[in-house]
Amino acid sequence: MSEQHTFQAETQQLLNILIHSLYTEKEIFLRELISNASDALNRLQFEMLTNDAVQDAQAELEIHIEVDEEANTLTISDSGIGMNREEIVAGLGTIAKSGAKAFIEAMADKPESAADIIGQFGVGFYSAFMVAKQVDVVSRSYRPEDEAVKWSATGGASYSLEAAEKDARGTSVTLHLKEDEKEFTREFRLKDIIRRHSDYVAFPIHVGDDEEPTNKQQAIWRRSPSEVEDEEYDSFYKMLTMDFAGARHHIHMRADVPMQFYALLYLPGSAEQNMFSPRKEPGLQLYARKVLIEDYNRDLLPEYLSFVQGVVDSEDLPLSVSRESIQATRVMAGLKKTVTRRVLSELKRMAKNDRDKYLGVFGEFGAYLKQGLVIENEDRSDLEPLLYFQTTYDDDPSRYYSLDEVVERLSENQDELYYIIADDYGSGSRSPHLDAFRQRGIEVLYFTHPVDAMLPMGLTDFKGHKLVSVDSAELDLDDVGQVADEAQTPEAPLESDSFAALLARVKSRLGERVSDVRESKTLVGSPARLVSEDDSGNRYMYRINRLLDKDYELPVKALELNPRHPLMHNLSGLIAADGDADLIDAVVEQVFETALLQDGIHPDPSSMAARLTLLMQAATGSATADLSFADVKTVISEPTIAETPQIDLSDLNLEEADSEPIDNDES
Ligand code: ADP
Repeated sequence: MSEQHTFQAETQQLLNILIHSLYTEKEIFLRELISNASDALNRLQFEMLTNDAVQDAQAELEIHIEVDEEANTLTISDSGIGMNREEIVAGLGTIAKSGAKAFIEAMADKPESAADIIGQFGVGFYSAFMVAKQVDVVSRSYRPEDEAVKWSATGGASYSLEAAEKDARGTSVTLHLKEDEKEFTREFRLKDIIRRHSDYVAFPIHVGDDEEPTNKQQAIWRRSPSEVEDEEYDSFYKMLTMDFAGARHHIHMRADVPMQFYALLYLPGSAEQNMFSPRKEPGLQLYARKVLIEDYNRDLLPEYLSFVQGVVDSEDLPLSVSRESIQATRVMAGLKKTVTRRVLSELKRMAKNDRDKYLGVFGEFGAYLKQGLVIENEDRSDLEPLLYFQTTYDDDPSRYYSLDEVVERLSENQDELYYIIADDYGSGSRSPHLDAFRQRGIEVLYFTHPVDAMLPMGLTDFKGHKLVSVDSAELDLDDVGQVADEAQTPEAPLESDSFAALLARVKSRLGERVSDVRESKTLVGSPARLVSEDDSGNRYMYRINRLLDKDYELPVKALELNPRHPLMHNLSGLIAADGDADLIDAVVEQVFETALLQDGIHPDPSSMAARLTLLMQAATGSATADLSFADVKTVISEPTIAETPQIDLSDLNLEEADSEPIDNDES
């Protein structure tokens, strides 16, 4: 007695698309059904580690493919975990996969692109409807008490369910092929598809009466690297991740001592998840002696390498333990150490031998490595050589240099390494903080990626050289480097009395907004800059909080003025002449806010427009008496004050922080 069930609306849509698809590579349906069978066998194998009371405990773990040319049918059977009534309804009547929805939406937008999209999408079981007009599934669960059940559908809005006769554990999927899909009843054709798409499936696939399995069954990661073709690595990666752009790099490792294991790891093309990816979480597939123990294991690599995809297969992990207790074993700790070290050394080697390729990797995943350096400080010495930065060395934003390279060309008497934090390369390169460095030929690293603001917390020094921000109040460059061109220095410094009067005036005007106003020893062509008196590594945390849209406290800094700058000469003259007080104040405000703007921390830049207009009017000839500066005095809005500066690195969503593509032609 059969009962009818209605498919979910999305399943109906999906079926509709698949039935009418003109896709030429329809043969992938077989790969999908074999992959389901293999999953079912994996799960059964895992169950049997702890449970021997399963139906048909002695049955071979294998996949059978049978054809009936006369009836035009094809049957794929497995002795896997099976499904009872509820499981078959849940598994084949509903779409659990979010990717399916995305697929349907993509199809609705561009129906003509079905052929392109379908191949990228793990259409799974339903892909059978590309070649079949009816599909029957008979399944018997591994639980002895569950009864066998038959599911049947013709691609319409509903499917039928009825009790079935089946003693053998597992699932049989029978495809009643469409008239023009007869080719899939030819055994040679099926074997060819299996060899091309499913060769490495770990369980034997028998076609017809063949004693010998069609597939090699050798898991790709267990083969010798010298025997695996690049194409095989590539297709395994694509099958694993559905990332059809391909991986950037693969690492195939086998170890015998002290532990025996195999690993095949990939550096993906992009940090962004492919929306069709069947891998929904970070983590590696973990096998113990060929049995899949965990689909997403996160204990094999540190968090900062969570972008790595792949498989680890250990011979030493105890099979008889639960997933939870595996984490605690010493074998796991040893695996993590070995695998992590290998990934890091591979990256290091790539940086040395193929700079362009490495910079591609770094451009995509550098933010992870930087975060790792701050959070997992014990791996610091491995991570530091992997960091690359734009620098003032040649002021070419397309070039990136390692810390080692920067250290190799330190200036005379240079003991510290200098960096500038900026929102982007352009604003960093125009910063007044660089005046003295440029004048003396001292190289400065650009820290312009959003996560760079937390780098000073972990990267405090490198090879004995302290890392110092160019906006440090303590900066003293007197003996460092060589002043290139003395003649460039424009004007004589202001008389000390006049300059003191200027400093006092500015100080009284800016009040609490600055911690001090004083003479600059480093400025050359710029009138002013803001320096930080806080020397702690987390002093840039407000930038991170700002990025995360959290409350942040704008740091109060000291304002340094350049006694040689013509603007300071003019201001000093105005003060001495007791000139227009409003004009002086407006200029002081603008000097301060320009410095904020140059540091990328002006909370409301457009608020300066009114004042700038008045200053332009004054400069172009309006008598200042006619201008009302009084209205535009203190336009800067109060920054939001947080109770305590918050340091919460866990919130930092690296996937969202955009990384600029790196294009480096240095070799
Ligand atoms: P996916 O395999 O990606 O989850 P499918 O649409 O291919 O999506 O299958 C849906 C579900 O049906 C599977 O997750 C599984 O629970 C169940 N299923 C499919 N084929 C089998 C099978 N041969 N044996 C046991 N369960 C299966």
